Amino acid sequence: MKYLVLLLVVLGGIWWLRQQRPERPSKPTDPRPGPQVMVACTQCGVHLPEYDAVQGHLGFYCSEAHRQRLET
Ligand SMILES: [Zn+2]
Repeated sequence: MKYLVLLLVVLGGIWWLRQQRPERPSKPTDPRPGPQVMVACTQCGVHLPEYDAVQGHLGFYCSEAHRQRLET
């Protein structure tokens, strides 16, 4: 009888741990999912990911310096 109680406590502990931990793996979500969009610098033509590019009125640029060179 003592072992039955112990078994119940262990099973309860396992159940409790499962409740604490969700089944799906909590993988940190990528802020930039999917294929990356490549853009070309309007000034020098170099290709770079859109999230790294500097957006200006005339298009994308590889750097702030190139944006200023063309747009100011
Ligand atoms: Zn450039």
